[in-house]
Formats: sequence, structure tokens, C-alpha cells
Amino acid sequence: MDVVDEVKSRLDPVEYIGRVVNLQRAGRNFRGLCPFHNERTPSFYVFPDRGTWRCFGACGEGGDIFTFVQKREGLQFRDALRELADLAGVQLSREATQKRSRREHLAAIMSAAVEYYQRCFREAGGQAAQDYVYQKRGITEAAVSAFRIGWAPDEWRSLHDYLLGRGYSEADAVAAGLLIEPESGGQPYDRFRGRIIIPIADERGVFVAMGGRALGDEEPKYLNSPQTELFDKGRTLFGLDLAGDAARESGSVVVVEGYMDVIGPWQAGFRNVVATMGTSLTEHHAKLLRRYTSRIVLAMDPDSAGMAAAERAGELLLGSPEQMGRAARHANAVSLGAGVELRVAQMPAGKDPDEVAREDPKAWTRTIEQARPFPEFLLMRLMGDGRPESPLEARRMVDRMRPILEAVTDPVERAMYVQRVARHLDIPETAIMDRIRRPMQRAPRPRDIAAEARRTPSPEDMLLALILRHPSLRLKVRGLPADLFSSGINRELFLRWVADEDLAMEGEDDPAAGHIQWLRGLRLPPYSDEEARKAAGQTIHAILKERLLQRQAALSEDVASLERELGANRVAELSEMAWRGALIPDDADRVAHMVIEDLELGLSLHRREEPRLA
Ligand SMILES: [Zn+2]
Repeated sequence: MDVVDEVKSRLDPVEYIGRVVNLQRAGRNFRGLCPFHNERTPSFYVFPDRGTWRCFGACGEGGDIFTFVQKREGLQFRDALRELADLAGVQLSREATQKRSRREHLAAIMSAAVEYYQRCFREAGGQAAQDYVYQKRGITEAAVSAFRIGWAPDEWRSLHDYLLGRGYSEADAVAAGLLIEPESGGQPYDRFRGRIIIPIADERGVFVAMGGRALGDEEPKYLNSPQTELFDKGRTLFGLDLAGDAARESGSVVVVEGYMDVIGPWQAGFRNVVATMGTSLTEHHAKLLRRYTSRIVLAMDPDSAGMAAAERAGELLLGSPEQMGRAARHANAVSLGAGVELRVAQMPAGKDPDEVAREDPKAWTRTIEQARPFPEFLLMRLMGDGRPESPLEARRMVDRMRPILEAVTDPVERAMYVQRVARHLDIPETAIMDRIRRPMQRAPRPRDIAAEARRTPSPEDMLLALILRHPSLRLKVRGLPADLFSSGINRELFLRWVADEDLAMEGEDDPAAGHIQWLRGLRLPPYSDEEARKAAGQTIHAILKERLLQRQAALSEDVASLERELGANRVAELSEMAWRGALIPDDADRVAHMVIEDLELGLSLHRREEPRLA
């Protein structure tokens, strides 16, 4: 449950709104005079079971408890949330807010450093770096600009002096990982000296770290920023800020192991490539990537050095069956946890992705297209080309493959691999089945339980999910009134999306983050753009219809209570007069109002035309 849900679950809208509006019970709902426009007969309703409110009178406003506070006090969503969280005793944590502005400050220092190193690269002092980058590595001017490649002069305090001159503190530059504080005390000095600088940005393009490549044979060849408040390599992918669009368009993203393996393919026109930085692909990485595509291809260098990197990247430790099993379980957990499909592409022998993409673009395309699902890749490696020569050898092979097969938790998928292995070894499938454990039911993790406990998506949730999945709807949908959304968080997201299609997070503690993730994870049919447009139209229709029905239910409840009050005959008589347009006594004003509204409502409910998209 995220903060928004938690606040909502703790506050009773009837009690809360009832502090401002004098509410009377009307059937299952509550009714009062609208606080947002002047009226004499109550047309403002609170619906406790939905946690929403709506005025069916002149202003037509509506929403949930958050929008109520927003409208009443003229607040932004974030401030309304803060106020209600206080009231509900939910911790939004001032710490989180402070942490965010701290991160912004460190990111500003990082960005200043990136600019400085870029300038050093282009100045006379950067000649050796230019020679290396352009001549030796064959990096183009376009790539140097796109990746903001720079040069850290071989001096102890050049960045140090630059940053201090710009008013940044030593302590903050140390915290950003740019300076090193000598253990013996004394003045901090530059971490990167005499190195080509490759800035590392997060998915939004905010610089969070950098990598430094030695010009010659110095060790280490690559020096990376340490883990800092800004940079967590388990949550960062190099190149993602540049690869997002291409990943979405091509329907897959390729994960490599080094900076050059991103830059080389980029130059060759393959722009859906990102790199992990010396870690295995984590579930966080996979979830980041899933925003763009659910098909992740690990492209690893098959030579021995490369294999070691592949082992890191997929936690694929060739060696003992247990280690392979662990790798397969890790891959299985990542795919299931993030809802992605993990494949492995095997580059031609002796070549790394950088070389393949530049020297033979067709081979690159073919290799990526032929990438195999992770377990299959492992099984193929183990089986090789030869057939077992004896029953004993066959049994040994099955035993080696067993941990991999057991790591596949989906029974259908597992059966498919078993079949393949059985064919290769030329033994019956049942013989293999007998040797492996039954697929384990994955124990539900706390997160899954929380996910299941979430409400089923409402039409407005579905509309937002559609919008997020289908960028082509943008032109059609962005003109819709935000008021279409009753839920405050949905309305907030819609407004944010209108302003920024990518729905950038507002820092780590963005209260909407959980909801965005949930919406992005909702299952939708694989619509074409045209079908998505139609589905959006139908969903909008469903939202409006639901609203009308709600209004009708509220009204008929009112009519019933009037009948109890005045007697059914008197109400019928007054209705008849109102309907004929006859003059009715003052005290029957309410009846007239209601009857006419009831009739109009009946008519509008029967009008079933599709609402046109703006
Ligand atoms: Zn009103």
C-alpha cells in the first residue's frame, strides 16, 4: 500500500467532509449544500463506499478526499497529501524531502563536473585524449557530443579548484564521489586524473556518476564513481537516457557489459543498447527497462574474459551445476519479479558487441534476433553438439542440467525444455521428469500479497493505463478535462502526463510512484493504435455512464425520502404540476427540482452515443 492509499484508507470522507459541509444521510449516501457554489437545495453528495463526492448542481465538481482539499484550499496535490497525511498520522517523512533536495544539489555538482571535463577534452590540454578517442577508438564527433565524453587532466586538484571556484563545498564534492578525502586528513583531491571521462546518467538524463578510462596501460583500466547518495549501480544502467525511445520502438533492449559496447552500436545506428556497470542484471534494472520494453537481451562476449563478465551480468557461473542453477534461479526471479523476458545473445567467437556492431551490422541484427531464452542458453551450452555415448554419461548430463530445469518455475515452460533435452539425449521425457523435482509453487512474496489486495482497476485507472501504454493517444486525449478523474491521484497523474509525457518521477519519494508502477503493470490486450483509441473512447463513456448512474441512484433515494415525508400521493401530484409547468407552492420547490432532474437524467441515460475524443 502506498502513502496515497494509506491516507485514503485511514480517513473517512463523510467525517472529513462533514466538518465543512452539513451532511444528511440519503440512503447509502450523504447529501448537503455544495461548498463550491451557492445553492438552496442540496445537490452535493458524498459516496462513502467509493470514497468520492460530487456536486450534481451548477458547478458539477467532484473527486475524492484529496481533490476536496485541493479545491477547497487551492492546493497542489502534493500539499493536499501532506495536509491529509498529517491528519491521518501517516509519515510522509520530512527526511525524504530533505534527501531529495540533497540529491538535487549533488546532481548539480556532478553536472558541473561533466561540463568541466567536456571543456578540458576540447582544449589544448586534451589533445592526447582526443587522439585516443577519435583515432584509436574510432569514436565519432556525434558520439562524443551525445555521450558527453570528457577528459580529466592529469593533475591533483584541477576539478577541486574548479568546483570550489563555483561555490561548491569540498564535503559535497566528496559526497558526490568526485573528490577523495585522504585518510590521513588533509585536502581532498580529484578522484579522476589523466582519464577519459564517460558520464553516467540516470534514465531521465541526470548525471549521477562517471567512469574514467585510462589512456595507456595504467591500472585500473576503468575507474568508476563509488556508490554514493546519487549513484547505485544496482539501479543504474549506462546509456538508458539515450536508449529509451529506440527500445520502445524496436520492442527490445540489449544489455551489454561496458561503455564501449554501448557507444559502438550507437554509432552503427543500434540505439537500444544499455550497459550494467560490473554487476549482474538486477530486478531493479529489469523493472527500469520494462518501462520501455519487456524483452531484454543480454549480449555477452563469449571468449573467456567475456564469459567472466557474462557470469557477472547474468550471475551465470559456469562450473558447478549448483552455480548454474543459482544463475538460472536468479534469471527466473528477475523475469518473474519484473515481468520481463530474459534472453541471451551469443556474439560471434572472439568479438565483443562493439566490434560486431561496427564491423558487421547484419551479424549484430542476426545475433540479437536469435537470442535464446536464458534457461535454453544454459542448457545448450551444457549439451553441446555431441550425443552422450553411454547411459552413464546421459545420466550425468541430466544431473548437470537438473538445477537449471528446476529453476524454471513455470510448468509449461519447464515441460518444453524437458522435451528439448529429451530429444537431444534421445531418452524419454518421463525419465528426465522422474529425476527432477516437481515445479515448486512460488511462495507469494509480501509484495505480491500487497498487489493482490489492491482494488481491481476502475475505468479511470484503465484509461490512464491505456494512455501510458499508447503514446499515440496523446494528441487525442490530452485535451480532456482533468475532472474526468474522480480519484485525486489519477487526476494528479493525468495533469502531470499532460505536462510531461514521460511522467518523470518527482524524486525517490514521489508519492505517486507506487500508483504509476501499478498502472504500468496492469494487463491490457495488445491493442493497435486504432483499437487503443476505440478502447479509450469506450472507457471514457464508461466513466461518464457510471457518474450518471450514481446521480440517478442519489436522486431516486431523495425522491423516496420525500415520499416518506410528504406521502407518495402528494409527491405524485406535485410532480405532475411541475411536469406540466404549472405554478407550484414555494415549499414544493425541492420536489419540482428533483422531478425535473430525474426526468432529464432518464433521458440522458438513454442517450448512448459515444463521447467524442477531444
Ligand atoms: Zn456545486
